[in-house]
Amino acid sequence: MANTKKKVRVITIDADKCNGCRSCEIMCSSYHSVPRYSSINPARSRIQVITDRLNNQWLPVFAGEYTAAECTGRNKYVIDGKVYGECDFCRAACPSRGLFKEPDSGLPLKCDMCLEEEKPVCVQWCLSDVLIFEEREVDSDDGPATSEMETGLKSLIDEHGLQRVIDTFARLSKKG
Ligand code: SF4
Ligand code: SF4
Repeated sequence: MANTKKKVRVITIDADKCNGCRSCEIMCSSYHSVPRYSSINPARSRIQVITDRLNNQWLPVFAGEYTAAECTGRNKYVIDGKVYGECDFCRAACPSRGLFKEPDSGLPLKCDMCLEEEKPVCVQWCLSDVLIFEEREVDSDDGPATSEMETGLKSLIDEHGLQRVIDTFARLSKKG
């Protein structure tokens, strides 16, 4: 396959500067509401601030890939004297926790980098400069990226089985 160039969007997280204001969560959830900016629910945000108030720890994490696999690892990380838990750095929507799941449907959420915006919304609204945005050009021989709909369908199939999903679509299409 020919090696082509593509632009990728990168957000670097300067976590030490984060003060836990959660503007990023509020604005991400509002931007992705339908219609746009019609509601705010940080549980729907594709960035979550992992919080340990007693120890003054705030760690912004972006929603990554959905996975049906439940991790059994029990790692801890100590960085600059701060202890981070086993799942704190994990970006996956997985069966172990409720993070990065749409609260009503349970479907996985994934950061889409706000492709329609010049700069991601969370970056625009992080006034503490924790989220640093840049666009890079990189080599690419990848196939097309997985769409949000594909990810949602895969999670439904993992949970309910392919035949049940097919039967449900067949039933719904008859109603339509
Ligand atoms: S907006 Fe910035 S400072 Fe506020 S919680 Fe998010 S990353 Fe931290
Ligand atoms: S880049 Fe966009 S989709 Fe991703 S967390 Fe920030 S606001 Fe949400």
